[in-house]
Amino acid sequence: MKYYNLKEKKEVVDFKTATIKGQGREKGLFFPELIPQFDKDFIENLHQYSDEEIAFRCMKDFVGDEIPYDVLKQIVSETINFEIPLKKINENIYSLELFHGPTLAFKDVGARFMSRCLSYFLKDENKKVTVLVATSGDTGGAVANGFYKTENINVVILYPKNRVSAVQEKQLTALGENISALEVDGSFDDCQNLVKQVFSDDEINSNLFLTSANSINIARWLPQQIYYLLALKQWQKLETGNPVICVPSGNFGNICAGILAHFRGLPVEHFIAACNKNDIVPNYLKTQKLESKETVATLSNAMDVGNPSNFVRILELFENHFEDLKSKISGYSIDDEETLQTIQDVYENYHYLLEPHSAVSYKAMERYLKENPEKKGFILGTAHPVKFPDAVEKAIHLTVDLPESLENLIKKEKKSTEIQPDFVELKRFLLNKN
Ligand SMILES: *Cc1c(COP(=O)(O)O)cnc(C)c1O
Repeated sequence: MKYYNLKEKKEVVDFKTATIKGQGREKGLFFPELIPQFDKDFIENLHQYSDEEIAFRCMKDFVGDEIPYDVLKQIVSETINFEIPLKKINENIYSLELFHGPTLAFKDVGARFMSRCLSYFLKDENKKVTVLVATSGDTGGAVANGFYKTENINVVILYPKNRVSAVQEKQLTALGENISALEVDGSFDDCQNLVKQVFSDDEINSNLFLTSANSINIARWLPQQIYYLLALKQWQKLETGNPVICVPSGNFGNICAGILAHFRGLPVEHFIAACNKNDIVPNYLKTQKLESKETVATLSNAMDVGNPSNFVRILELFENHFEDLKSKISGYSIDDEETLQTIQDVYENYHYLLEPHSAVSYKAMERYLKENPEKKGFILGTAHPVKFPDAVEKAIHLTVDLPESLENLIKKEKKSTEIQPDFVELKRFLLNKN
């Protein structure tokens, strides 16, 4: 499979190059030249296939012969080696729980796939790569865990001091080995600006081979299709008719993967983009104007994105046909007050505990179903409530128990280097590390 740069369509690369480079010239995103179609019989009978087989069939056309099939099989089975259950919340709404992976967030799937592909490609290159990421909490943990002890790869994570939850901080700082955590005395935006400066600094780039691990990278974006298939496998046993799928969205990588799977033949009734106050896409669906905005801080902070980078991929899928796009995707913006109220209501009425991102999603789904009462579907549960304990406790006045898998982690020692939001200081750290 070849991938072209959405900004400069003449730049065409293979899967390996797109994975290593992350993005193309002019910071353009890569996009597959073909949308490979699923076999109809396969899609209608997903229950006859194992999860590993489904994941393999989902990914193989995108990788082609660049990774041998037996290695790819191993990679996809490690990518999804935790449960991804579709749980019923009430008569009309289910939740696809994507938070049973090692860092309790859906980003584990993409990070695990990407780290293994990157490691495979670097094996023969005799090249050491530094993966640099800024995180508001969830991305860093998934990336740290996904790349932990991966040969030839160092990971440097920048996170804002005192602004990530206790569990999130331990996930970033307790691993050690090839993972370094930098605690920046500033905001998430400061972290992100520092990372951008590093990527455009000639001296650093001539000393280190840098890459990013955000959802712009195709090796993080594409494997997210897998769990839409695994969800449909479960849905086909539980319900008739096609599901409405509601995705809590920030950078729009997750929902874009679902839409891609749909274009390949996965039956989906409708998609809902659930946003918090950062409502660029819901506004676009109303006005046909895509206007990025200053980010607003909310309780669902992994979706605090004022310029959703993957949306260009959605536009490409629909070939920029606004009416087609609008008939397939609805958008809702949910504020913090409604988010807390939803956590409380759903807990009281159905004994199901949501965290802020999933609560935004639930509320958006409820709105859509009110206007379309004959439909049913599921939300994507993107994180475990324990990762956002403050909001959850505020809503239901109960503390969230730590899952067993985290008890050891939380006891581990935090290892981080504190820096000021200062490029010179970061540059010194990176050059000394090498
Ligand atoms: C990253 C994240 C999102 C948003 O996903 P995108 O692919 O950026 O739209 C939603 N919920 C949680 C918990 C996240 O960590």
